[in-house]
Amino acid sequence: MCIRELPVTLEGAEHNKYASNMLQVINVQSQSSVYEKALEPLRETAKILDLHESIVKVLSEPEKTLIVSLPIRMDDGQIEVFTGYRVRHNTARGPAKGGIRYHPNVCLDEVKALAYWMTLKNGVVGLAYGGGKGGITCDPKKMSKAELERLTRSYASAIARFIGPNLDVPASDVGTDSQMMGWFMDEYIKIVGQSLPSIITAKPLSIGGSKGRETATGRGTFFVTVEAAKAFSMPLKGASVSIQGYGKVARPVAQYLYDVGCKIVAVSDSTGGAYNAKGMHPLKLVEHKKSTGSVKGFPGSIEIGVVDPITVDCDVLIPAALENQITEKNAHEVKSKLLIEEANGPTTPEADKILRKKGVIVIPDILANAGGVTVSYFEWVQNRMGYYWTEEEVDEKLKTVMVKAFTDTYETCKEHEVDMRTGAYTLSISRLVDAMKALGRI
Ligand code: NAD
Repeated sequence: MCIRELPVTLEGAEHNKYASNMLQVINVQSQSSVYEKALEPLRETAKILDLHESIVKVLSEPEKTLIVSLPIRMDDGQIEVFTGYRVRHNTARGPAKGGIRYHPNVCLDEVKALAYWMTLKNGVVGLAYGGGKGGITCDPKKMSKAELERLTRSYASAIARFIGPNLDVPASDVGTDSQMMGWFMDEYIKIVGQSLPSIITAKPLSIGGSKGRETATGRGTFFVTVEAAKAFSMPLKGASVSIQGYGKVARPVAQYLYDVGCKIVAVSDSTGGAYNAKGMHPLKLVEHKKSTGSVKGFPGSIEIGVVDPITVDCDVLIPAALENQITEKNAHEVKSKLLIEEANGPTTPEADKILRKKGVIVIPDILANAGGVTVSYFEWVQNRMGYYWTEEEVDEKLKTVMVKAFTDTYETCKEHEVDMRTGAYTLSISRLVDAMKALGRI
């Protein structure tokens, strides 16, 4: 539960209009913890791998947690205090790796869950990384560019001694972009007095970003979707696809699937949604969102709600917004055959059970959206070599990693006769446990 962090978050919430959803979030979080839900599949995996309870205990707690208070002068001259977090879940397989989220719902409980999923995700794709995550409780949509720059620089300086290129490497996530990664890197460089681009990934190309990083999560999701379609004998050509969210990771996957003949029948963002059974053009949707601020009202479409893409008639469902969107309340109404989790944690454990009973094939987040961290890893490797790859080289390496991760997961599923989520957890946790044993930590 979020109980331990209540005093920290409440203080900020009472005084900070830029994080105005916090009180409401705390109420929701104290009833049901994202982190507790995130840990549920671990228990099933522990049975398969015959893990001692003490190992489950170790894996259930992050190695280190940092909470920082960030006083920022806003454009109107007032000082607002924001709360920032960085959680290092596990570093047995390498430095912690995971993005930074700016969102009103960010709280310690959520950041812990996201850090834990990063450890598992990096294990599934076999990267030499552990897992971490960071975030600030704020609403970036209500802040000016100058305020966001001051907030990002303040956060970078507050967590600088907690992170490092060999220790904990952040990147972007919901509500953050490559410009913010640039500000973060600049602040870090000033503190350590060295040029260290490998401190953060998803940076602009001009300061050491990798080719292909912007579309990497969507590209990886696409490769996994193609493999899943082959493995479960579902042709993609002509398949109808519904996507919740239309941000950084959703837009590229919509385009790649459209390019191989899929119909994008539904999309949504935080303001509303659009549905057209005949399909919608992904790029035109981007242009419409750019000019109107929303995907709703797209020409020729019917207006739907933000959660409706989950339950529309479709062959492939891709949740690509936030966690806990598919719950026991709407899982019964999911109509797709294949569900590809591009968002982190979009399905609650209760909903997962319902989907399994219905025979929906769920490709779990820790596999489906691992393309982003894979190209972040490539970016980090290129920064350390000081030698940069072409877009084609990055794409080829990404495809190799994603196809292998799918095959390894699929083989694990067959070996243990389990679903894809349990297979991915089993694969990742067995790799993690091997590393922890080799280090003598367990
Ligand atoms: P983003 O901020 O670029 O986009 C989020 C999208 O979700 C936006 O279109 C927003 O309007 C929409 N949204 C927010 N709340 C919604 C709601 N209640 N209903 C419908 N839509 C809603 O973020 P992103 O980077 O695209 O991340 C999306 C998801 O993918 C997150 O779960 C994130 O953790 C995960 N992810 C991101 C990356 C990455 O490289 N950025 C990598 C792996 C996983």
